Amino acid sequence: MNVAAEVAKFSRIAEEKGLVTSLEGNLSMIDRETGSICITPSHKSKLLLTEEQICVVNAAGEQIGGTGKKSSEYFLHEAAYKARPDIGAVFHCHSPYLTAYALAYRDFVTPEDSFLHQIFGTITCLPYGAHGTHAIHQGIEEALKGRPVALLAGHGVVCVGEDLEDAIGLLEAAENFARTVYLKNQLD
Ligand SMILES: [Zn+2]
Repeated sequence: MNVAAEVAKFSRIAEEKGLVTSLEGNLSMIDRETGSICITPSHKSKLLLTEEQICVVNAAGEQIGGTGKKSSEYFLHEAAYKARPDIGAVFHCHSPYLTAYALAYRDFVTPEDSFLHQIFGTITCLPYGAHGTHAIHQGIEEALKGRPVALLAGHGVVCVGEDLEDAIGLLEAAENFARTVYLKNQLD
């Protein structure tokens, strides 16, 4: 598989879905054999990304390929891969209904009797950490234990999956879930 081409393709899909913009969100995939990560570059339209622009970062954290500048959230992706050795892709975005919980520094406690509760359980909000630093992922190991989504206080959402199709699908389901709970609360 051409991993960089795959990251470029799903970046376009994520922007077409309205989940990311040129300034917000990032996507990556890992090669578990070499430990290298292919990640979207900073400040580029994800609709227009080419595989040549996708940044390749080796296991030591050095950029060894791609014409773009690796996303400032690289540390977040690296921490998610360490926390979950079983996953192959990480998706970070600021989808509004989940991010509302993150801005309120609150966990999203999914209703126990709802269909998606088994997948998402309680979506934990990590403590605040400055953008682009290691502080952003404190507690990620615990938050992603058997769960695909965590919130970043004051910031956004991180979602992991087998591949990017899986991670984006899980994020969309969690975002729709948060929106539905919001609408349900208007009925109460
Ligand atoms: Zn962000």
